[in-house]
Amino acid sequence: MAGIVAIVGRPNVGKSTLFNRFTESRKAIVDEQAGVTRDRHYGKVEWGGREFTVIDTGGYVKDSKDIFDQEIRKQVRIAMEEAQVLVFMNDVHTGITDLDEDMANILRQTKKPVLVVANKVDNHDKAHEAAEFYNYGLGEVYTLSSVNGAGSGELLDEIVKLLPPDKDMIDDLDLPKISVVGKPNVGKSSLVNALLGQDRNIVTNIAGTTRDTLHTRYRAFDNDFFLIDTAGIRKKKKVNEDIEFYSVLRTIKTIENSDVCLLMIDATDGIQSQDMNIFQTIQKNKKGIVVLVNKWDLVEKDHMTMVEFEERLREKMAPFNDVPIIFTSAINKQRLLKALEKAIEVYHNRVQKIATSTLNDVILPLIDETPPPALKGKHIRIKYITQLPTHAPAFAFFCNHPQYIKEPYKRFLERKIRQNFNFEGVPISIFMRKK
Ligand code: GDP
Ligand code: GDP
Repeated sequence: MAGIVAIVGRPNVGKSTLFNRFTESRKAIVDEQAGVTRDRHYGKVEWGGREFTVIDTGGYVKDSKDIFDQEIRKQVRIAMEEAQVLVFMNDVHTGITDLDEDMANILRQTKKPVLVVANKVDNHDKAHEAAEFYNYGLGEVYTLSSVNGAGSGELLDEIVKLLPPDKDMIDDLDLPKISVVGKPNVGKSSLVNALLGQDRNIVTNIAGTTRDTLHTRYRAFDNDFFLIDTAGIRKKKKVNEDIEFYSVLRTIKTIENSDVCLLMIDATDGIQSQDMNIFQTIQKNKKGIVVLVNKWDLVEKDHMTMVEFEERLREKMAPFNDVPIIFTSAINKQRLLKALEKAIEVYHNRVQKIATSTLNDVILPLIDETPPPALKGKHIRIKYITQLPTHAPAFAFFCNHPQYIKEPYKRFLERKIRQNFNFEGVPISIFMRKK
């Protein structure tokens, strides 16, 4: 992962318009996966061969007038801590307002790159008005029209230049990276502490690399891996955790750094939308998932409780519900090692490559039995399947009319792959390609 770019600025300067422009081109690819709804505030951008995450900070402001300004200031501070590049959006129509000035004051305190953008420069006449924003003393002013796209290429070029390098030491070691994510207070630190409390398993701590996460090299079941701990989990630095935006950013960062995520949900709260948002973020990033239903010790149980909980959970996760679910108690150290063992299994499921011949031998007959429905009088024939050489599993189906194959049939193909090969806990992508 190459870093987070945060778009900051007061309301109405055009942050979400720019966000949409940046993420538009990828929409088709990212959302191809069934059941993944588009996130309006968080997306991926590809430019010049680099990929980065973009966040529209405005999306996380709760719309209550009295806390508005204060909330925005908090978010700028958080964005400043968490992001690698800050895009400071301004509106050339209004010029510098008090709130803009406030933000500039906060942004001046960071050593991270801040790109001052004069937005709504829709034509040449407006361009010289943009000079006003040099008064911030924050350096170069980039003119932009988020609606018509003028200037966005130059801005992207600059962003990409400022991103940290793609690779670091930890990636090079090529060990599985496993993390614990979940909303505040589900028991993440308790889990990490319980595991790391067993000192004999710890190989080494690598802190303070280019990322501000702590990777603990850990050994269990003859497997060597990194337990990823976003800095602060163990320091109990919880001051910010009640702020939704903070936990969202932290979570995104952790997910992007992982191969497999242990997603913790709180058994006593049931399944909440916050849990499902994290689930979708993991899915969207195509990382492995193991769901842990924690605090199971607090739940009054009869013989059906677990089954019912699991069923409800699978309904919510559908269509991607081929996911391991483990009921844990971090406090009582129940099934924690099982959780890790599963995570390692999911890691192996995710990196496996199915030979093309095996894939065709197994799946093509199933397609012959249930071929894609003809559309507009055209017969659709899938001739050949191959797994693509991508990090996360992706399969290309070569056929005569790829555009006529609809979502339900793709889901059928995914089901058949899952029934015949073990991709438990792993999001997979299905692509239709022209033969
Ligand atoms: P946010 O609150 O900062 O996310 O701002 P929005 O993206 O919602 O934009 C606020 C308003 O400004 C909307 O009506 C947009 O259509 C408009 N807007 C955004 N970018 C531009 C631009 O480049 N030119 C013009 N003329 N209007 C823009
Ligand atoms: P985090 O915010 O996700 O890191 O959550 P913590 O690990 O700080 O846990 C929040 C609270 O839940 C603490 O008071 C823990 O003691 C408690 N807790 C965590 N896991 C369990 C569990 O499995 N059972 C019970 N009963 N309490 C738990």
